[in-house]
Order: sequence, then C-alpha cells, then structure tokens
Amino acid sequence: SDLDWTAFAEALAPVETIAEPVLVKKRSRDFFWYSPILNTQLRRSFGDLVAVPKTPAEMAHCLAIAYAHDAPVTLRGGGTGNYGQAVPLNGGLIIETTSMNRILEIGEGYVTAEAGANIEEINNALHEKGWELAIFPSTQDIATIGGFIAGGSSGIGSVAQGMLRDPGNIISLKALSATETPEEHLFEGAAVNHIHHAWGLNGVITEVTLRTVPHRNWIGCMATFDSYEETYAAGYALACAPDIARKLVSTVDARICAYFPRLAEYLRPEKHLMVSLVPAEDMDAYRALMAQQGGVVDLAMSEAELKAAKLPHVFEFAYNHTTLQVLKADRSATYLQVGCPTPPDAKDIAALRPQLGDDVWQHHEFALLDGNIVTFDLPIIWYSTRERLTEIEATYEANGYPIYDAHICMVEGGGLKNADYKHLAWKKRMDPKGLLNSAKSREWENVREKSPEEIEAMAAS
Ligand code: FAD
Repeated sequence: SDLDWTAFAEALAPVETIAEPVLVKKRSRDFFWYSPILNTQLRRSFGDLVAVPKTPAEMAHCLAIAYAHDAPVTLRGGGTGNYGQAVPLNGGLIIETTSMNRILEIGEGYVTAEAGANIEEINNALHEKGWELAIFPSTQDIATIGGFIAGGSSGIGSVAQGMLRDPGNIISLKALSATETPEEHLFEGAAVNHIHHAWGLNGVITEVTLRTVPHRNWIGCMATFDSYEETYAAGYALACAPDIARKLVSTVDARICAYFPRLAEYLRPEKHLMVSLVPAEDMDAYRALMAQQGGVVDLAMSEAELKAAKLPHVFEFAYNHTTLQVLKADRSATYLQVGCPTPPDAKDIAALRPQLGDDVWQHHEFALLDGNIVTFDLPIIWYSTRERLTEIEATYEANGYPIYDAHICMVEGGGLKNADYKHLAWKKRMDPKGLLNSAKSREWENVREKSPEEIEAMAAS
C-alpha cells in the first residue's frame, strides 16, 4: 500500500505497533496452509503494520485512524482460522486483539470477556467458580473468544449444546463501527447473528457474553473398535444415550490413529477410534455402552491424570486437531468438510467408504443441529491434484453428502454458499468505506453502493 506507514504508526500513538517486517509477516498468516490450494493463493499476502490495542478505547482510536487514511483493516485474534480469514488480502493494518483480554464478569450461566481474551484462560477462570463454556473450539489454548465468535461455528460441547448460532449460546456482543468516530453497538438475542461468523468484515467485536454450563469432572475417553462402521454406530449411540452426558463424540479411522504417536502405548494398534468426554459419574454407563457396541475402552483419564501422564486434552485428537496431528508428520495431507445425511446411518457410511478410495481417511464429529444429532466428516485427504480433490468431492455429493468448501477464502464459500445479505447490510452500516476484510466477500462489490435497507431486502428475495 502507498500509505506512509511511519506517519500512520505515529498517528496511532499511544497504541503499541509492530512494524518489523518479519513480525508483520508472521501475523499475516493463519492455518490456511492446511489447504494446498489456499497455500498457493495466500502465502504472499502480507499486511503493512500491526496495531495492538489494550482497551476498547484504543481499538476505537485504531479504527478512527484507519478511517481517516482509508486503510484496509484485518482483525486478528489467535490466528487459528483455517481459510485465511485473518490474512490481509489487500495489505494494510492488522489489529491484533490479544492484549484487549480482560475477563469482565462471571455470573450464573454466563461469562463476559473482552474479545481478545484467551479461551483457555476463560475456561480456567470459569472452572474456579464451578462453570465452563457451553461450547469452545479445540484450539482453546491459542484462540481468542472474539476470533471464535467471528470465525468459528461449533466445537467441544456442540454434541450437547448445538451450534454457536443457536439461541442463547451467544448471549450478547458489542462491536465497534469503522467510521469517522467509531461507535459501539450492542447486539443481543437473535441479533448476535448479524455479527457472528462474519469474519470481522462488518464490525469489530470488543466484548462478548457467552452461555456457560456447570463444570463437570470430564473424563477423556478413547474406545477402539474393529470396524469403522461399529465405531460410527457407537458414536451415534453415545451421542443419543439418555443416561450418559457427553461434551465430545468423535470417530477416527484407524489409519489416522497411526499418526497419534503419543497415544501409541495406550491404544490397541490398527483399530478405529472413538474419542469422547464423559463425566466421571456416568463412566459405568459409558463402559457398559461401549462393551455392548463391541468396543474396548483403552484410555479413560481425568484432566489431572492426562496432565500427569504428559498427554494433551483428548479434544486435541478431534475437530481440526485430527488433521493437525497428521500434518505434523506429513505436509502432503489436507482435508475436506462434509455434511452427512440425517439421521446418522452407520450402514450408509460403510457403503460409502469403498467408493472414496485409499486417499480418503474418514473422521466424524457428532453435533446437535436443530434438535437432532448429525455428523460432519472431516476426512484426511492425501492430496495429489485439484482434479482428484474435485473427484472425491463429487463422490461425496453423488451419495448425498454436501461439501462445505474448506479450500476457499471467501465468506460465501464453506457452509455459507450464498451471500449473507444481513451480514452485508450491517457491513454497510458499520463499515461504510469497506475497510474491514472486504476482499473476503465476493458479493460486497455488488452491494456496496446500496443502502443497508436495500441490501437487507435482498436477504428476503
Ligand atoms: P482468528 O483466526 O485470529 O480470526 C478468525 C476470524 O475472526 C478472522 O476473520 C478475523 O479477522 C476475525 N476476528 C478476530 N477477532 C475479531 C474481532 N475482535 N472482531 C471481529 N472479527 C474478528 N473452529 C471451530 O469453530 N471449532 C473447532 O473446534 C475448531 N478447531 C480447530 C482446530 C485447529 C487445529 C485449527 C487450526 C482450527 C480450528 N478451528 C475450529 C478454527 C479456529 O480455530 C476457530 O475458529 C478459532 O476459535 C478462531 O479463533 P482465533 O482467535 O484464532 O481467530
């Protein structure tokens, strides 16, 4: 960008800035390298300057300066997104939120925190008071709560509590406009979804209030099975069990487990795996269910026992951490995100498996969607060519499994195949100059001249 970034940094004072090119480049990346396609597209997109505000007032100052200079702005929390959401496609200012990180209030069934608060720290503070987040991502050790709300959708807890977007999971949030004088807007109830999952392109989240649930002594469980079909059937049985609580249910193909060296001394070799979190008081019922489903419980440890054994949280073998464990050993792996027919049907999965080929190793997450248990497949793909990837996607789709593109850096890609005009109407209100992460929306260029009301009307049509 042709802005004078030295003068810009001076105008940002007293906000801390980072101009050292190596550090700016580092903060221009997220986990897009999971995708060989995004890696080619995004690895040379860098911002010009990083600002690190410590308070909402400092954040507002950053936005006012960006507005005055017409500078593109990309928000960044922990930088753990998988689609380049936090990559500055047009250069400009990166605003890192991690110093705006206070936990403000913990009450009956809720927590309020600043957007840059680390999720693990929030959970730790909650545990001390007998609570835990209803839903959190497997990246809690690095990710921020604002980044999760802006970029995430579900996670640990979703098997019982549903998606983030479901009523009551996000109680309220505050967001700043990128205007001459940035204003704070409060979104409550259903209105939180105007900002949630918009990738930071229609407002800057400063504070969130999320639902919490009573903390339980979760036991990290690993059960193994002879066939994937049995594993998946057992996963469904656990996800629906009337007498067993659960915070996580994931099933993993045996070939993927070979990439979990830290579990090698615990798991029976070459068996398919079910990873789950079950409370201590339900362990007898869980063990009985696993035995009935043909499984063997290889590992069952509390958080303290896992720590003593120098093992990670069990959820680091679930969600997109499964993919990460494989990528640590071999960068030629990638993944897909696939929806599955409802209700989950183990026979259907078994019939699909031989059609997919040896370069597709399945991994399913169980979640509650609109009151029903559903599954998402996040398979490991041994990437050869774009053509082969397209062929795998076509096989899934021909069998009734929709693909949510994980290899596209557009908010209209992924699960949201059509433009979200409500998000874009709010973008017009909150970001009239289109400074906030605008290159991530295909539709923005087509609607930016319209009024918020006109854009909103497009949502209806
Ligand atoms: P970032 O990556 O920094 O940002 C994400 C998006 O939010 C970007 O578009 C950014 O511009 C925007 N943003 C950040 N802060 C703000 C703000 N204050 N205001 C407005 N916009 C903002 N996701 C899940 O949903 N569930 C999972 O279980 C899960 N598991 C994962 C496992 C692995 C190994 C990896 C690599 C990713 C996983 N993800 C998961 C995706 C990602 O980790 C989560 O979405 C995460 O919570 C993002 O938080 P972050 O702080 O890293 O956000």
